[in-house]
Amino acid sequence: MNRDSLYIGGRWVSPNSDTTLPVENPATEEIIGHVPAGNAVDVDRAVTAARTAFEGWSRTPSAERGAMLGKLHEALSARTGEIARTVGLELGTPLKIAKAVQAGLPLAVLRGYADLASNPAPEETIGHSLIAREPVGVVGAITPWNYPLHQVVAKVAAALAAGCTVVLKPSELTPLVAYLLLDAADEAGLPAGVLNLVPGTGRDVGAAIAGHPDVDMVSFTGSTATGRAITHAAADRIAKVSLELGGKSANIILADADLTKAVKVGVGNAFLNSGQTCTAWTRMLVHRSLYADAVELAATAAAGYRTGDPFDETTRLGPLVSAAQRARVQGFIARADAKLVAGGAPVPDKGYFVPATVFADVDPDSELAQEEIFGPVLSIIPFEDDDDAVRIANNSRYGLAGGVWGTPYRALDVARRLRTGAVDVNGAAFNPVAPFGGYKQSGIGRELGAHGLAEFQQTKAIQL
Ligand code: NAD
Repeated sequence: MNRDSLYIGGRWVSPNSDTTLPVENPATEEIIGHVPAGNAVDVDRAVTAARTAFEGWSRTPSAERGAMLGKLHEALSARTGEIARTVGLELGTPLKIAKAVQAGLPLAVLRGYADLASNPAPEETIGHSLIAREPVGVVGAITPWNYPLHQVVAKVAAALAAGCTVVLKPSELTPLVAYLLLDAADEAGLPAGVLNLVPGTGRDVGAAIAGHPDVDMVSFTGSTATGRAITHAAADRIAKVSLELGGKSANIILADADLTKAVKVGVGNAFLNSGQTCTAWTRMLVHRSLYADAVELAATAAAGYRTGDPFDETTRLGPLVSAAQRARVQGFIARADAKLVAGGAPVPDKGYFVPATVFADVDPDSELAQEEIFGPVLSIIPFEDDDDAVRIANNSRYGLAGGVWGTPYRALDVARRLRTGAVDVNGAAFNPVAPFGGYKQSGIGRELGAHGLAEFQQTKAIQL
């Protein structure tokens, strides 16, 4: 593995320019490495390699692609410890969570796509038409920093399983873990040009991918503002775009919920990865009859989220990813017009820490309840009845995820009324093969499982 190189056409190659980007450890504020700052010339080389490889990869039988993804899974699994450590260093995720989520989840997703490609569904027929599913083409994958390997694998594994070839640009804040993936791909013998890596900034590399005339589809995860810019760039050539964007999800605790469990799981969800999770339940909506108890339980739970060294097994809350992200989150806390019941004060230690913070009596229309903060900040809001809860939950320009707690039939009824791409009833676990994506400004398209694979395919009707 060569962190001063790009990976293009099946080889580690020199970048077009000598400029590099530093990678910082947000827990210590130390520079832990550098990667090349790719540019438009590098993107063009990578797209050419991906286009050349598309001819062969798209015609490779699905089962063979599945077998190749299986080899990639094997090679990446051998790097599990290194993945967790790398994400711990470049993002600050506490080691225990880094092992389970930052390493475990992408490996499970990759295994799933290897299996899906190995056992393709039979082709559909409609009347006298055969409906062929064909790969979209060359995919530009642009990813953020909060789940840096998972977001890469959710795109890359699905695209490769579908028969597409990929040019990947990981976040400039967390590019190191992507090098482990390419290292594994190299070892697994992925055919040249099928997967290419060009690290760099969004302005230089991301924009060049989004606007490249030979990129057939841009698969993006990140902020809604960047998703909008990418959509504009792709619109000029009518390229397909799939977007996984921000969220402001509601966790609804109905009058007949198991309050203790609902608050405990809800707080854990809101603070996972220091609140830097697009699906985080950042608004806790509680029935008036349970409200005072919920506020007390949430404040007590938040006090147990100690910040500290991510490599200390007892740390539950790592730092935020960067000084800019901490300043942004502290700005929301300083401007908040609500009752502070936990956290709030700056953490004096080195590193970009923000304490687990809880506000009660939050106005559903306020900045706190409307903006995606992307930090460990939970807003608690009372409601009067189920209709009121649904109205408050849907009062958001986002629609990514959510939770509902109560007797199953009643909770399911409320879940159906939420304008979001996913809802967990009574704390049901995340399902990595169920479709994942957003309503409204949370995105377009779906990732994960068979639905995620279908995003990278187009249908052809062949009349016989
Ligand atoms: P971001 O939009 O700033 O950056 C995401 C990626 O886009 C990075 O690789 C960046 O370099 C690139 N980029 C930036 N400007 C670009 C441009 N003009 N053209 C092309 N690429 C460009 O987002 P972020 O700060 O890295 O991530 C946090 C955001 O991501 C949050 O809003 C979060 O909700 C969202 N997110 C969504 C999901 C989801 O699945 N829905 C998952 C994780 C994160």
